[in-house]
Amino acid sequence: MVLVNENFLNLQNSYLFSEIARKTREFIALHPEVTVIKLGIGDATRPLPLSVIQAFHHGVDELADQKTFHGYGPEQGYAFLRDLIVENEYRARGIDIDPDEIFISDGSKCDTGNILDIFGKNIVAISDPSYPVYVDTNVMAGNAGIATDNGQYADIVYLPCNQSNNFCPAIPNFHVDLIYLCSPNNPTGAILNKVEMKNWVDYALREKAIILFDAAYERFIVEDDIPHSIFEIPGALKVAIEFRSFSKTAGFTGTRCAFTVVPKSLNAYDSKQNVIPIHPLWNRRHCTKFNGVSYLVQKAAAAIYTDIGKNEVENIIKYYQKNAEIIRKGLKQAGLEFFGGINSPYIWVKAPQGQSSWELFDLFLEKLNIVGTPGSGFGPNGEGFFRLTAFGSIENTQEAMKRIQNYNFGLEK
Ligand code: PLP
Repeated sequence: MVLVNENFLNLQNSYLFSEIARKTREFIALHPEVTVIKLGIGDATRPLPLSVIQAFHHGVDELADQKTFHGYGPEQGYAFLRDLIVENEYRARGIDIDPDEIFISDGSKCDTGNILDIFGKNIVAISDPSYPVYVDTNVMAGNAGIATDNGQYADIVYLPCNQSNNFCPAIPNFHVDLIYLCSPNNPTGAILNKVEMKNWVDYALREKAIILFDAAYERFIVEDDIPHSIFEIPGALKVAIEFRSFSKTAGFTGTRCAFTVVPKSLNAYDSKQNVIPIHPLWNRRHCTKFNGVSYLVQKAAAAIYTDIGKNEVENIIKYYQKNAEIIRKGLKQAGLEFFGGINSPYIWVKAPQGQSSWELFDLFLEKLNIVGTPGSGFGPNGEGFFRLTAFGSIENTQEAMKRIQNYNFGLEK
């Protein structure tokens, strides 16, 4: 008799994206004459930049030639890419990271989930609402305890993020071990400033905790004085792991490439309270269960650090930022309350008349023919909110805002 990992039976069904797809499909079938605009997706839509495409082509030619063929590469990633990351993402900001501390991977989704392999049973703190991977992977790892009626889990410490705290999680006045922070945030679009990040780092130093810092949207930061990396905060190299992704930066959601920084100065403990360095554990885990990102993809990722590549990436980000600006202007003119969309591609819209997230979803779909994402799908504190994204085309984003402005939400403008 084969036993399953019963933690998986503890997972609650995620209806969010399947329910959005079903409702949208049914609406379109009933109203084939209308054009539905999708502003719910968190996926890149701009094509790969030319420098990346050329690097792919060049890489294929190399693999086609006996003299330049590459088979298995180093599991942690090729030195050419790790060096470029260190130079451009860290040393350029005065952060001293060793290339050996960079692990190239096929995505931050995998990394934020897989990282739990190297940790034992810990008290885990997660923002609510949050990117759903954090909670679900803790359920799979057996850290979450029993499911509760409101869709949460008994053993997870939820850090509410709502209007009263500017959607930034408050530091608990008790001990937790592992803390997930995501800035710029999906889904709220909020950002942690230097002081907030320092408070978290100080807490982690004091409590011997570790921060799992998800900076997948780092490239969207425009305001001065907002840290781009948690390692800008003194002491963070002793208490944090950072996740970065090329997905939204350069259109790598389909081709897959990301990296995780695991500092050599980061320690945890065994059950006898011996100090255990984290870096060798992650290195071992990565090399045992992962065989490296393809040479082609790493070559392509390296191309975004050329002068032309940097310029192209900047233009892609500017395109999405322009959409975010169009959305913010449109919502403002419509008199709707919203947050985010400045240092982030996500705009967090508050239900204008106390509707639930799904009621607002239905209203947007049926009256405005716009698809967004109900905030409650990211956790109970997302209830009453609705997520729009800047990843659509400019034309669709403009048209969506026209529809919103022409609709009477019953508010003073
Ligand atoms: N982290 C956050 C907060 C995200 O929103 C996403 C994707 O939507 C990811 C990580 C996943 O990124 P990747 O495409 O690198 O797996």
